[in-house]
Amino acid sequence: MRICFDAGHGGKDNGASVNGVYEKDITLKICNYARFIAKKNGFQCFMTREKDESLVHMDRALYANRNDCDIFVSIHCNSFVNELARGIETWSYPSSTKGEKLSQLIQKELIRSTSLFNRGCKKARFSVLNKTVMPAVLIEIGFLSNPQEAKLLLSSEFLWEIASSIVRGCCNYFEKEFEEVVATEFLGEEERNIVLEFQKFLNVLGIYDESGYPLREDGILGQRTISVLQKFEKMLLKE
Ligand SMILES: [Zn+2]
Repeated sequence: MRICFDAGHGGKDNGASVNGVYEKDITLKICNYARFIAKKNGFQCFMTREKDESLVHMDRALYANRNDCDIFVSIHCNSFVNELARGIETWSYPSSTKGEKLSQLIQKELIRSTSLFNRGCKKARFSVLNKTVMPAVLIEIGFLSNPQEAKLLLSSEFLWEIASSIVRGCCNYFEKEFEEVVATEFLGEEERNIVLEFQKFLNVLGIYDESGYPLREDGILGQRTISVLQKFEKMLLKE
């Protein structure tokens, strides 16, 4: 089963903002978490964007269509002039009954896990809902304009909870058991990627271990990697 996660906004389009934090960065963070959790749950995952880049709505939908995704999940944060506006809402396309079912299952999980105000499931002809050929939803996760909710949206723990609930809703849609994933696993993976980058970098530079062998590129910070890093550090200090 293939899920397309769509991090709202990006690039020149910041979306809403609070205290210098942009919606585009929050949505990408949630998508990164959701992808990680969904992969662990056996889904094949696609992301309309993986970095801070501008995308038009049409391209987001076409990307999901091109990759033959089974469902499309677009993530946004809300904002309003009145800071009392609050809660979570999930949108689907008016004539899509499958989209509506998906929106209900995700909304239910989000409300259950966060206890935020339930604004309900709504219908709209947003282009990402309209141009996608698979069941599609657009989730507005709380209001950046509401101080209490903004505080939550700036917390990684909260965003992890949101991502988990979204994937749980997707599992329910496919009548598939959800397996909980703890946040530390994700951070572990990030660390491994950094170590892996260093190993590749050292190998490219030809900085090998005492026996003259290149490092294994496995992302594990073992004794050999540490000693080569130390060697590299000494080389830098000499220059
Ligand atoms: Zn938005």
